[in-house]
Amino acid sequence: MNTLLIGCSDGRVAARQSALLAELGHPDANRLIVPGGPLPLTRPGSERRVALGCIREIVEEHDVRTIYLVAHQECAAYERALGGLGFDQRELLERDLRRVKTLLETSFPGVDVCCFVIPWHEDGTGAAYGPAAPVD
Ligand SMILES: [Zn+2]
Repeated sequence: MNTLLIGCSDGRVAARQSALLAELGHPDANRLIVPGGPLPLTRPGSERRVALGCIREIVEEHDVRTIYLVAHQECAAYERALGGLGFDQRELLERDLRRVKTLLETSFPGVDVCCFVIPWHEDGTGAAYGPAAPVD
């Protein structure tokens, strides 16, 4: 239970988040579920302060040692924050994950941060989210 998942509130990725936690052996991990997942932590000012305050409370209350930072493609919160489509979402998500990982590991010494992206696949048979994939 000394783990925490930070992920997006989009219900379409909820099952993928749960599958990831089960795969990692932490189905009962704490969860911080907000629009965009790591997104508020990339914003300066009050958004980041509030998010860090929530994380601090969970980390201290549950002696969290590992944080799973989970972004996903086709994220409406990201699209709104960035003013629409037309950017390389995967590249941008991975860049933000690495920045937030550094922020969290600096803010919470002793906590390891692991990053994941839930990919969106479209092909001839349809479109769906795939299993979460690790980001180095
Ligand atoms: Zn989202």
